[in-house]
Amino acid sequence: MIPVTIPSPIQEITEPFLEKKEIRLFLKREDLIHPVVSGNKWRKLKYNLQEAKAQNQTTLLSFGGAYSNHIHALSFAGKSFGFKTIGIIRGEKTLPLNPTLTYATEQGMLLHYLSREEYREKETASFLEKIKSVFGEVYIIPEGGKNNLAIKGCAEIPEEIEIDYDYLCTSCGTGTTMAGLIAGCHGKKSIIGFSALKGNFISSEVQILLNEFGNENTHKNWSVQNDYHFGGYAKTKKELLDFINGFETTHQLPLEPVYIGKMLFGIYDLIEKGFFKKGSRIIALHTGGLQGNEGMKTIPAL
Ligand SMILES: *Cc1c(COP(=O)(O)O)cnc(C)c1O
Repeated sequence: MIPVTIPSPIQEITEPFLEKKEIRLFLKREDLIHPVVSGNKWRKLKYNLQEAKAQNQTTLLSFGGAYSNHIHALSFAGKSFGFKTIGIIRGEKTLPLNPTLTYATEQGMLLHYLSREEYREKETASFLEKIKSVFGEVYIIPEGGKNNLAIKGCAEIPEEIEIDYDYLCTSCGTGTTMAGLIAGCHGKKSIIGFSALKGNFISSEVQILLNEFGNENTHKNWSVQNDYHFGGYAKTKKELLDFINGFETTHQLPLEPVYIGKMLFGIYDLIEKGFFKKGSRIIALHTGGLQGNEGMKTIPAL
C-alpha cells in the first residue's frame, strides 16, 4: 500500500491576463497525489494493481520509452504492492542509464530492450505468446497503462471536483486519461484534450478507447487540440520553454515540457484567441510527470 493524497487539491491560478479576459483558471494538482506515482499514472495503475492481486499474479509487465513516466511509476507502485516488475523498453540499451531507468532498476524492475521494429509488434498475439514463454505467467499492462481499468481509474477524477466549472482540460499521450474524463463527466461540461504528439489521431484513439470501455461512448461534449505539440512527442521549442519558465516563476509551481507545458501554452493561447466563453471557469489537470525533467534537460530545444 502507498499513501496517496486523494482527492488531489485544486488551486486557482490568478494573474492580470486571466482577469482581463474574464476567465478563471484552476489546476487540479494530480502531481501532488504521490511523490513518485503521481498524476494520471496512479489513476491508471490503481485498478490494475487490484486486478493483478485478485488474479494472484506475482509479476507485472509493461512497456515504455526510456523516459517513460509510466515505467517509472510502475516500478515503484509494483514494488510497494509486493509485485515483481518487468519493463519492456523501446530502443537499445544506452549506458549510463538515464535517471528514469536508473530509478526503475533501483526499484527492482527488470529491464528488457526491444529494437524499435520489434517494439512496434508488441501488441500482436504472437508477441504476447513469446512474452509468456520467456517470462512465464505475468500480468500485462499496455504501454502508458492504456486499458479499461485505467479509464475506470481516470473516470474518478471529475467526481472529485466540487467547484463549479465549464471546461475540463488534460494533456493527451495515449488518450486514456481523456477517455476517463469523458466517461466520468457523463455528458456534462466540455472536455478538451491537448495532444502532446504530432498528428490528428488522438480523437479517434479516444473514441476507440471509449468504445472498448463499453459505455459513455456516445458523448459529443469533447474535442482535441492538435496544434500544440511543438514538433512532436518529447520535442520542444524555445517559445515553449520560455512560457514554462515564466509560468513557474510567476506561480511558483513546477511544470514539465512533454505534456503539461504544452497543454497550458495551448490553454493560454486559446484564451487569448477568445475560444472560451467570457466568464467561464477552466479546470486543467496537472498530470504530474516531473520525474522526466531530469532526462529532458539533455534533449536540445529546436
Ligand atoms: C502519461 C502522461 C500523460 C498522458 O496521459 P494519457 O492517458 O496517456 O493520455 C499526460 N501527462 C503526464 C504528465 C503524463 O505522464
